[in-house]
Amino acid sequence: MARSDGELILVAGGAGFIGSHLTLRLLSEGHQVLCLDNLQTARSSNLRLLEGRPGFRFVEGDIVNPLPTAVTEQAHRITRIYNLACAASPPQYQADPEHTMLTNVVGTHHLLRLAEQARARFLLTSTSEVYGDPEVHPQREDYRGSTSCTGPRACYDEGKRAAEALTFDYARMNRAEVRVARIFNTYGPNMHPDDGRVVSNLICQALSDRPITIYGDGSQTRSFCYVSDLVDGLIRLMESDIDGTEPVNLGNPLELTVGDLADRIVAMTGTRNALVHRPLPQDDPRRRRPDITRARDLLGWSPRVSLDEGLAKTCAWFAEELAVEREAVAAE
Ligand code: UDP
Repeated sequence: MARSDGELILVAGGAGFIGSHLTLRLLSEGHQVLCLDNLQTARSSNLRLLEGRPGFRFVEGDIVNPLPTAVTEQAHRITRIYNLACAASPPQYQADPEHTMLTNVVGTHHLLRLAEQARARFLLTSTSEVYGDPEVHPQREDYRGSTSCTGPRACYDEGKRAAEALTFDYARMNRAEVRVARIFNTYGPNMHPDDGRVVSNLICQALSDRPITIYGDGSQTRSFCYVSDLVDGLIRLMESDIDGTEPVNLGNPLELTVGDLADRIVAMTGTRNALVHRPLPQDDPRRRRPDITRARDLLGWSPRVSLDEGLAKTCAWFAEELAVEREAVAAE
């Protein structure tokens, strides 16, 4: 899949959790990657993993603003644009809801304009959050969703819905060739330990001396996809010749309750920390599971990494990260 030396892939949000894995994979396939990131939620260690690798270049910038010259002056060489630029963890995207909304709408618009100018294929990473608190289960792409435009999640889920609408309009107007992935819960190395999402929270709590926090009674469900599977799906979607005017779900259909997830992490880490219940956040979806028939049929994609294998890798990675952090604190 390697391109000729002159071609370039832009990854907006390339220093983030999924973005850093995608960038590493693209570089390993021989591509050149221009990573545009505002470092809002990215870890500096993710950037250190990437910097110095052949073909990698970092540009600091926020897609809410007009794109930096260091990006626009490369437009003639850019053949693919991945948009992964947005905080995705509920506490983080709710911390500055105005910025989250603008990132999705104005930021996506800036990247679509670049795609049009560069004649580059554009991939939007949308989200299972467009289904809101779903009344249809599992969620197929033709389900229109049940979101709340008045609640605290709206900046993200309504922002992504608007980003999808704009992206499909660009395709309808023949202004850009587009792909839209709806990503379900994803986990793995390179997540931020303080990210606030359930997998990182529970593992980091289990590996330190903090109680394990279950929001609500823990009966709400999610389906967790290991990050290497997700990245594989994104690249397949980008490179496929499918009609890009339909979104594609990418996620692992294995559904489990948050309580079951906590039990697995407790068993895997051997922690004796207490399990404590905290209030369920407002508008927290009760159930979530992707129907991935479309991804299977169109892309030949389905997840390969089992939950136990993925959690074991993630626990091992966090154990190392937390040990490094502890050493740094002790040395201060
Ligand atoms: N959750 C939890 N404990 C935590 C963090 C999250 O029980 O420490 C719950 C949260 O309320 C939700 C689920 O785990 O029901 C997944 O939350 P996450 O923030 O990872 O992502 P979401 O799918 O809600 O966007």
